[in-house]
Order: sequence, then structure tokens, then C-alpha cells
Amino acid sequence: MSRYIDILNRGREILKFCEIEDFDTDAWLLFEYVFEMNRTSYFLHQLDENHNISLENKYIELIKARCSRLPLQHITGHQEFMGFDFFVNENTLIPRQDTEILAEKALEYIRKYMDLKSANSDNTGVSIMDMCTGTGCIGIAIAKLLPNIRVTGADVSDKALEVAEKNRKNLSADNISFVKSDIFDNIDSNIKYDFIISNPPYIKTGDIKNLMEEVRLHEPFIALDGSEDGLYFYRKITGEAGKRLKEGGYLMYETGCDQAQEVSSIMKDAGFCNIKVFKDLAGLDRVVTGRLHH
Ligand code: GLN
Repeated sequence: MSRYIDILNRGREILKFCEIEDFDTDAWLLFEYVFEMNRTSYFLHQLDENHNISLENKYIELIKARCSRLPLQHITGHQEFMGFDFFVNENTLIPRQDTEILAEKALEYIRKYMDLKSANSDNTGVSIMDMCTGTGCIGIAIAKLLPNIRVTGADVSDKALEVAEKNRKNLSADNISFVKSDIFDNIDSNIKYDFIISNPPYIKTGDIKNLMEEVRLHEPFIALDGSEDGLYFYRKITGEAGKRLKEGGYLMYETGCDQAQEVSSIMKDAGFCNIKVFKDLAGLDRVVTGRLHH
């Protein structure tokens, strides 16, 4: 029988020994997950004995799984994004905090766009495409926060779409639907969107081998690989976006921190204007937006 504090310390020590960078946080998050204790109840009960030996065994088992570089989110099956709890597994990219910058910018732009439409007494609905939706995190967060708009999420992977659909149901997002499509191949060309938003795969193929094991071995290659120069999806999506957006609509991307200038040029060459780059919390270029000539 061990005290909770000793169990947590043991987990922390094992992770530290295995050189897991965020050993403190990960030991806690797994503890919270297994023992269903929040910070407050932990502080109240940390010196108590744990009487459930199977939970202790489970905790150590999950700590060992984490030592084998399985991402924490694949162990718990959860990742928070924009305040919503998303289910994740090995079939999609795990939502990243950096991507919240794109979601926030998109919300800001969409709100202004809607204000302007209503000022012009334009009642036609606003429609959004989340291209390469993965878990659906960007599209679902936007759909939840703006219930009056209509969102479509597209992805080429059936398994990713299963995850997205599960998230849609879990979060009761009724104004989003998903379609299987390789970029726009399977999207009706008569539909014009007000916004196309995307965090596409953007790692250069040759750089994938240098990524952390958690990412390299456990996240899907197709969710990472942006081809030789990392820009494949920006070229493809931007090339199509002119035909898929309404006049005055917006294209908004997350990019790698060293890709913003190249992506801006791709958009400029395709006739986009008002091109802007926004930084993430680390001060790195992260979001590129542009407007289809108006
Ligand atoms: N749009 C999803 C996300 O941002 C998936 C991105 C991807 O697979 N590259 O998490």
C-alpha cells in the first residue's frame, strides 16, 4: 500500500529517468487520469494511502507506456483545444496549442465579416471549409463558437474522418459535417465558401526523421508530410481556393515558422490581397491570411 504522494513521485521519477522532457506534467496528467483526482483533491488527500492496488498498477503501466514515447494524448485519448475536449488516437494529428492562434484569428475574421454582412443587410449564410480537418478541432471549435455559420471539414483519411465525426457527436456540434476528399477533388465545385481555413501537413519530407519520437513514430505520416519542400498543400489549396471562395472571401493557413514568406508569395501569385502574417505565443510566424480580390 502506498500513499498517493509516493505513487505520483514514483511516476515522476520513472519518467525523468526515461528522459521524458515534461516528466512533471506528464506524471501528474496520468495520475489525474488514472485516479480521477483533480489538483484540489490531490492536495487534500496526498498523504492518504491508496487502497486500490489495481489503479496503482495501471498508473505504473501507463507511465511505462509513456516511457516508450507513446504520446500522452494517445494514452489518455484526450486533448483540449480552444476549451473543448477532443478525442484523439493514432489516426490523426494531435491538436496543437499553436493551432489555437489560427482558430482565434479565424473567429475574429469571421465575426467581423458577419458584422459587415449584417450592416449591408446581407442575410445569406456564411460557410466555412476546414481543409485537412484531422480530428476536426479547428472546424468544430469554430462551429461551436459560431452556431449560426455552416462548417464543412474535409480530409482524405477515412480513419481521421471517424475521429472527427466522433468529436462532432461528443461535442454536439450540429452545424458541421465532414466529407472525404483529397483537397477539393470530391467537393462540389458549385459551392463557394466565405472562408477556407487549413492547418495542412507542412513538414519537409527530409525533416520528418528529425522530429521527436512521439511525433515521428506515433502521429500519422500523412498528417505531417508536406512533400520535399513542405509547401505541397499550400500550393494545391491556394491554387484551387480562387475557384472555391466567394469574392472577398478569406484563405487562412497555419504555416511552419519558416514558411510564412513563401506561403505569402504563393497566395500573392494566386491573386490574393491583404496578405497578413501573425505570430504565435513564442513570437514565431504561424498564421498567414489573405483575401480573394474584391
Ligand atoms: N487540422 C488538424 C489540426 O490542426 C489536422 C492537421 C493535420 O493533419 N496536418 O490538428
